[in-house]
Amino acid sequence: MEKTQKQEKDIRVLETFIGCYCRGKHKTPKGALCEECSELLAYARVKREKCPLDPKPTCKHCHVHCYGKAQRARIREIMAYSGKHLMLRGRLDLLWHYFF
Ligand SMILES: [Zn+2]
Repeated sequence: MEKTQKQEKDIRVLETFIGCYCRGKHKTPKGALCEECSELLAYARVKREKCPLDPKPTCKHCHVHCYGKAQRARIREIMAYSGKHLMLRGRLDLLWHYFF
């Protein structure tokens, strides 16, 4: 189903962003996440799967605001950090389209 595919794609992008951040900031080996980051990824995944809006707006323009304050702040930091890194490495295809 189309919606599921979209969700899966968003979740894969999330994993890439959080993974990049965790490797850079928490020095975890490639392919692994520290406990803190895997918790955040699990949280973000549930939120994405439960998002009632289709098409999903960017969170900035979303009226649901499903993220808790703390998680929102962390995701923002991760997006800023990993967005810069991925851009430097030419991964424009991953440019964040849906968060913040
Ligand atoms: Zn981490």
